[in-house]
Amino acid sequence: MDERTLVIRIKTPDGNDVDWSVDPIPQLYFRDVLDVISQVLPEATTTAFEYEDEDGDRITVRSDDEMKAMLAYYLGTMHDMQMSGEMVEPLNIYPRACKPPGKRNIHGLKVNTRAGPGSGATASTASASDSGGGSSGLPTNSLKKPSAELNKILANEQISEQDIEYQDMLGHGNGGTVYKANHLPSGKIMAIKVIPLDVTPEVQRQIMSELDILYKCDSSYIIAFYGAFFVENRISIATEFMDGGSLDVYGMVPEHVLGRIAVAVVKGLTYLWSLKILHRDVKPSNILVNTRGQVKLCDFGVSTQLVNSIAKTYVGTNAYMAPERIAGEQYGIHSDVWSLGISFMENPPTLPAGQFCAPFEHFITQCMRKLPTERPAPEDLMVHQFIKQFDDGNTEVVSMWVCRSLEERRANAPV
Ligand code: ATP
Ligand code: MG
Repeated sequence: MDERTLVIRIKTPDGNDVDWSVDPIPQLYFRDVLDVISQVLPEATTTAFEYEDEDGDRITVRSDDEMKAMLAYYLGTMHDMQMSGEMVEPLNIYPRACKPPGKRNIHGLKVNTRAGPGSGATASTASASDSGGGSSGLPTNSLKKPSAELNKILANEQISEQDIEYQDMLGHGNGGTVYKANHLPSGKIMAIKVIPLDVTPEVQRQIMSELDILYKCDSSYIIAFYGAFFVENRISIATEFMDGGSLDVYGMVPEHVLGRIAVAVVKGLTYLWSLKILHRDVKPSNILVNTRGQVKLCDFGVSTQLVNSIAKTYVGTNAYMAPERIAGEQYGIHSDVWSLGISFMENPPTLPAGQFCAPFEHFITQCMRKLPTERPAPEDLMVHQFIKQFDDGNTEVVSMWVCRSLEERRANAPV
C-alpha cells in the first residue's frame, strides 16, 4: 500500500461496513468525512464520528483539529503495524447519527419504510475478510455530489409519486406539510412539500409553468428545486433537503453565528431580487441551515397562482409582514427588507438593551423603518457594517453551531 493512502472503514449500524480509500492524507478535512458518511448513510444526519484508541475507548471527532489528532494516532499505529510486518488494519470510524425528534404524520400520508437503494452503489461493502486493500468504489476525498450531477439525473425524468419513498414528517405550516423523502431512482434524499389544492387542470398547468423559473435559480443561498407534480388534489414540490432544518426551532442564535446567517440571507435575497423575484415570505421558518454550514432561503413566491390558491384556503397575516402589506398597500423589495429585519431581531440572545453590537442594532432599526422607502435598498444591505463584518465566508462557524445544536436537541429529546 502507498504509505500516503489511508483506508477508512465506516462502521454502519446494520453491519454493512464501507471501506473508503483516501489519498493523499494531508488533504483530508473533517467535512469531507461527514460528506462521505452522508453518502453511506443518506437517511441519517451525521454531526460527528468516533474512533477507538489503543485502550478501546471511543474518542469523538467533530472538528479539523480532532481529525488531525485521530490521523496522527492512526498513522502511528499504521507505522507500527508495517514495521512489525502485520497486515495494516483500516481506520474504523463510527458515525454519530443525529436524528431530529420525529413528528407524527398527522396528514396520514403513507410512509414507506422499505430500505431504499441509498448511495451504497458507489461504495464498496467491506466483509470481515476484506481488510480494506483500497478497492473502494468511492473516489478520493472530494466526494461532494455536484448539483450538476443531480440535475443530470433528474433532467430526463420528471419526478413522480411512484419514485418517492416518504420518510419523516419535517413539519407543517399554513399551506402544507413537508416530508423528508428518498427519490428512489437517484437515491437522493429530498424535502417534499405537499400542499392540498383544489384547482382546475388549467390552473394546475399555470402553476407548473410559473414554477419553471425555479429550475433556473442557481445560487448557493437558495434552496435547489428538483421538480413538482400534481396528484389528485394536491401538489408536491421537491427541493433540496437541509439537515439542520429551519431557523425557527433554534431559539437564540449567538451574534457571531447570526451575523453569518444574515450575510447568506442578504445574498439570497439580493439574488432573487436580481431575477425580479420578491420573496414575500421571509421568516425564520423559511431560512434553512445544514451541517455543512450552508444557509438557504426557501418558500419564495414565484407562482402567483400557487400563492393565490393557497391564500383562498388559508387567510391571515403573519407576524413578519411589513406594515404596508398588512394595510393592503403595495408590496415591494422594501417589504422583504422589513421581514428580514424582524426575523433577525427575533433570534439573538435576549441581552439587556445596549449590549448588542452597534452595527447589529443599526441594521435592524434601518430594516424596520415604518416608511418603506427609508429602509436600506438592496445595494445598501450588502455594504452595511453588520453584513460586511461577517462576510468572511466562514461556514465552519455555522456548521459547528448547527451540529452542536442538533446534538443537544437529540440529548434532550424524550426517549
Ligand atoms: P408557513 O406555512 O406559515 O410558511 P412554515 O414555513 O413553518 O410555515 P412549511 O413551509 O410547510 O411551513 O415548512 C414546515 C417545516 O418543514 C419548516 O418549519 C421546516 O422546519 C421544515 N422544512 C421545510 N423545508 C425544508 C427543507 N428543504 N429541508 C428541511 N426541512 C424543511
Ligand atoms: Mg416554509
